[in-house]
Parts: sequence; structure tokens; C-alpha cells
Amino acid sequence: MSIDSGLPHAIRKLIFDAEIEVEAPHTARIFTNRDLAFERIGVIGFDMDYTLAIYRQAALETLSLECTTSKLLARGYPERITAIRSDPEFAIRGLMVDKKYGNVVKMDRHGYVGTAYHGKRLLPRAERKELYRAQRLGMEYERFAAVDTLFSLPEVNLFAEIVDLIDHAPELWGPRPPPTYAQAWNDVRECIDLSHQDDSIKGKIKADIGRYFAIDPELGPTLHKFRSAGKRLFLLTNSFYPYTDDVLRYVLGGQLATYESWHSYFDWIVVGARKPGFFTGQQPFQELDVRGKAIGEPTMEPRRGRIYQGGNQLGLQRALGVTADEVLYVGDHIYGDIVRSKKSSGWRTALIVDDLEHDLEVRRARRITLEEIEHLSQLQINLTDEISAQRYLSRLLSRMTTADLVRAGVAAEGAEALLDETRAQVRARFDRLRKYEEETAETLQRRIAEIDGAFNKYWGSVFAARKDTSRFGDQVDAYACVYTSRVTNFRFVSPVKYFHAPHGSLPHWRRSVR
Ligand code: IMP
Ligand code: MG
Repeated sequence: MSIDSGLPHAIRKLIFDAEIEVEAPHTARIFTNRDLAFERIGVIGFDMDYTLAIYRQAALETLSLECTTSKLLARGYPERITAIRSDPEFAIRGLMVDKKYGNVVKMDRHGYVGTAYHGKRLLPRAERKELYRAQRLGMEYERFAAVDTLFSLPEVNLFAEIVDLIDHAPELWGPRPPPTYAQAWNDVRECIDLSHQDDSIKGKIKADIGRYFAIDPELGPTLHKFRSAGKRLFLLTNSFYPYTDDVLRYVLGGQLATYESWHSYFDWIVVGARKPGFFTGQQPFQELDVRGKAIGEPTMEPRRGRIYQGGNQLGLQRALGVTADEVLYVGDHIYGDIVRSKKSSGWRTALIVDDLEHDLEVRRARRITLEEIEHLSQLQINLTDEISAQRYLSRLLSRMTTADLVRAGVAAEGAEALLDETRAQVRARFDRLRKYEEETAETLQRRIAEIDGAFNKYWGSVFAARKDTSRFGDQVDAYACVYTSRVTNFRFVSPVKYFHAPHGSLPHWRRSVR
């Protein structure tokens, strides 16, 4: 049953409490790749960072940049890097960094590069083709780095800016040569990694937590709705205890009076989990008290209602007391949370992709343009086929002689004129089609540029690469059973909902267009 979201709050609350499905705003929809019977899910696990706790991305990027540049200065990088500003549009998930050439590239689902930047300069088509001709990227593990978490976005922009300095202002490094692109990437990566580990980032966040996290008042009610439907919940995060405690106290604590603290929402709490290793390793669980102090010896059997650091998937799975396909894990990291948990543990997966809200908004606002693009693309295909046919016909006609016509029964006196007239007709048609094709291609290019710009001025949509699915979109499709923009979108669905996936299709199943 679907009920309009414009209803008064009191009625919506009744419906919500009665667990009848309420129609969600279009940006809050949950999309299904694999059928999922929510009723069969007995346990739901949550990642913390970017899943339960939503960062204010611009503030976090500025902070990551500051912490990383100060570490790079200590490694001899020039003062000029402190002038680099964060550029939240430049990096999106699914990109690859080509350390060897100092490039950042976006690929389609087949691994072909459709857009590439050298530093922050867009590579012209010819240069891009030269470097990434028919290569399927992703095979050379040393050369490429995948950009797959929201935490890694600021380092991509910083790297690109440093590549530009290496190219255009190498003298800034003084008498020494500037680093190679690959060295610069490794330096940036190490410095940002250190900033996460040595508390330089977390210390600043903890000191001013409201600046870095957005509060979603529906988080507590959403988790409560799961619990009242009989589902048990766990937290599984790579963040360590003191930070987890501060963050969840801020984004979840105090939201519902019936929950004494954020801890009470969860049946099991696992921090410092070292995902993706958590899904394949044998690390024991170390129990902690609510202040984060270790209690007793490490164990392989975590108990309900406790807090643990470390651990492994098998141990947690045994403790949950349900089969793997009765567990839904909700996370934002395509590799660490979703790919590994799906492959190694058999858990069902829900991916949180915050970019989806913007993507859906643009798709709705520009739907006429999107329809036009679809139409023009089909027209272009038809025109190309037609032009090939005319070209072939021209070739046949140019080889044809009047003698051929006479042999075919045409009167000799009219043969030459007939041949000339036919050739002229075919040429005129060919020219008309070519002009039409040029106009179509031009409009199509313009429309695609408009749409790409509306999604992201550097890269277009996170989910699409030109007319195909992007590498990131393909991973979402392959590994996330369902995906949505935020955890609280689940408040709109009934706990017994059956998420239906669209049926698969191969090209030969579709009805032929022509
Ligand atoms: P999650 O809760 O599993 O999403 O874990 C995210 C944790 O990983 C946060 O505590 C981040 O600070 C941390 N993190 C993110 N990127 C890096 C990195 O590059 N190096 C080390 N830790 C990171
Ligand atoms: Mg996360």
C-alpha cells in the first residue's frame, strides 16, 4: 500500500507506527538489483562513517587537505601547496589514478577510458586515445589506484594540483628535481593515511563535531522501526571506540527517549574491525567497556550486548545465530563493505550512495533532455546504417557501365542518361543524409555536454560513462542487492517489503528496434 507523503504529520506517524508503507520522495527511493525479501532479514548490520554518520563533505575535505599538506611540507614539498583549495566536484567515486602519467581517469564498465585529466587539464581526445587506446585498465595494480571511498576524494584533487605544480613550477622544489608523479601520489596517500591514523583529522573533528557531521533526525526512528519489527541490529565499523562513541553520541544519542544511549540501538557493537580483512581473517574479538578500556582476554565468541574491537566475520556470524542470507549489511564503501562482504560472507548488501540524491534530481529536472538524447542516439544509429547503405550503392553505381545496363535490357540510347540520373539521385540522398547526420551529432554532443555539466562539470554522472554504465555504476549493479542515498530512506518501507529486481536481459531478448 502506498500513501501520499503530503499527509499531515500526525497521520503519517500513525501509518509509520503501523508499519504500512508510505510513499517516499523520489530522491529517497530504494533501488533493487537482486530480489530481497525484507521479511526474511533477521539481522541488520551498519557501517558507521558515511553510513550512519553523514559527514559534511566540504568541511571534511578542507580539513583533510590542511592535515595532509602540513605533512607534505615536512617532507620537503613547497610552501605553494598550502594555496591549494579543495574542489569537491573534481573527485568522484569510481575514478582511477594513473600514477605513472599523473592522470585521473573515468572508465566505463568495460574498462575503457572516456574522460581523462592530466593534473587538472582535460586531455584532448587524441592524447587520451593515444594513452588509453584499447586498453582495459585496472589490471596493472602497481600503476593504478582506485578511488572508491568518500574519504579518498580530497587526495585525488590534491594529487592533480601537485601534478600541475610538478609540470609548470618544478623550480619550487629548489635545486632538487621535483618528485615523479608516482612518488607524489605515494606521498599524498601516505600523508593522508597518517592523518587518519595519528588523530590529526579525528582530533579536530572531535573538537568541533557539529561542523563535520549533519544530523538526520530520522536516524533514531528508522533504527527503532527495524527493532520494533523484530530485527536485531549490529554496528560494524573500522573506526576505533573513542571516535565511534563521540560520533554516534552526536548523531544518534538522545534522539529517542526510550533509548538510554546510542549503544542501546545495537545488539552487537564491533569497532576497529579492519574491514575488508574482517570478512576473511581470523582476528579475535577484544571486549571493551563503555569507556573503551579492554576487558578480559580476546575471544572468538562475541556475546550479545557487548562492545568488541577487532574480530572476524565467522565469529560474528555464529553469534548472530542466523544464516548468512538472513543478514543485511548496510555500508557506503563499495569494496570494503559491499564487495567483500558479499563475496566472502554471503551477507545481503545495501549500499548507501549519497550521490544518488543529486543524480536523481538532475535526472528529474532534465528528463526532457535525457529523452532527447535517447532519441537522437537512436536517430544517429539509423542514419549511420542508412549512410553506409547509400555509400555501398554509390560504389556499385560507379562501377556500373552503360554496357551493363544494355545487357540488363535498357535501351542503348537512354542508358547513359539513366545512369547519370541515378548516380545524381543517390549522391543527393547521400549528401542529405550526411548533413542530417552532422546536425544530429552536433545537437547530441551539445545535449550530452549540458547533461554532463548538470551532473558534474568535470566528469558527468557518477553512474554513467557517456551512453554506458560507469565502472562505479557497474560495481553498484554487481554487488549491492539494494542501494539508496541514505539509511533513513528505509523508514519509508515496510519491514515485510519484497524488493523486486528488474528482470535481467540479454541483447537478443529485447525486441529488435529495426
Ligand atoms: P567505516 O566506519 O568502516 O566506514 O570506517 C571508516 C574509518 O576509516 C574512519 O575512522 C576513517 O577515519 C578511516 N579511514 C578512512 N580513510 C583512511 C585512510 O586512508 N587511512 C586510514 N584510515 C582511514
Ligand atoms: Mg563507511
